[in-house]
Amino acid sequence: MITILSGGTGTPKLIQGITKLMDPRKINVLVNTLENSYFSGVCVAADLDTVMYTLAGIINEKTWYGIADDTFITHETLNEINCPETLRIGDRDRAIKIQKTLLLERYPLSKVVDIQRKALGVKSRVIPMSDESSHVTITTDEGNMAFHDFLVKHQGKPEVLDIKYNTVEPAPGLIESIEEADKVIIGPSNPVTSIGPIISIEGVVDALKKSYVTAVSPIIGDTPVSGPAAKFMDALGHEVSCKGVAAMYQEFLDEFVIDIKDRIYEKEIEKLISNVVVTNTNMKNIGDKMMLAKSILGEIL
Ligand code: GDP
Repeated sequence: MITILSGGTGTPKLIQGITKLMDPRKINVLVNTLENSYFSGVCVAADLDTVMYTLAGIINEKTWYGIADDTFITHETLNEINCPETLRIGDRDRAIKIQKTLLLERYPLSKVVDIQRKALGVKSRVIPMSDESSHVTITTDEGNMAFHDFLVKHQGKPEVLDIKYNTVEPAPGLIESIEEADKVIIGPSNPVTSIGPIISIEGVVDALKKSYVTAVSPIIGDTPVSGPAAKFMDALGHEVSCKGVAAMYQEFLDEFVIDIKDRIYEKEIEKLISNVVVTNTNMKNIGDKMMLAKSILGEIL
């Protein structure tokens, strides 16, 4: 059994590779819920939905958001009647978000996700990091902003000065799924706003210390493959490189996977983490994803 810590872009790519090689019933995915919010009356749990859609084989890989080949009739109609949406939500995607919103009136998020993943035919367990809601405040040179405000409304452009989020209680099964895993994989996700919130939950670091933990660097060279990780790491005083990510995770990491382009850092990172694997981590196609998955899973396969 393996347990994967995930955000909503980098790690889902790796999950696609892993599910080609392993029985999906032996996979648990622990998912960031920091950015969960309500838009157009429905609950948007962006990373959770992306992970579920990835495992169900229906994710829109162009955006890593929403369902492939979705239609946008409701979105377009809302625009026509002067009720524009902040997020462009597809029709099928909206149906799942409506179900989530309705189920949340009766059940905690972890139960809702379990009901939904089964409805989508997903055999892996998907566990939100918490049943409580968590909020992030991004302090920028243009004032304090919520995550979607910063990313969507301001297109990630303002200078980031600080990032703060509240801590939350672990969802049922979160700690156990780390402690009981043969291997824990921290995927290439944003270390500040995707992995950081999961790690900040009480009991997670202790559980990680007891398990064999591998992480993949989301930073290649001095830039993230996508998204605002560089701005966020810089704002919190972390070096924007795989070395900086290694330093953030070093207290619980047994193995760190860095890209071939970062080979020069191998010896330096070995001073922090006992096993350093150098390979191609830039997942452009299913072949890349499976190769990376194979080098991480190793003896588990
Ligand atoms: P978010 O929830 O959309 O922010 O997505 P994540 O946190 O899961 O992923 C964002 C991070 O994934 C960014 O820091 C990217 O650099 C990283 N990432 C995306 N694709 C790849 C890839 O193919 N390889 C690696 N190594 N990192 C990637």
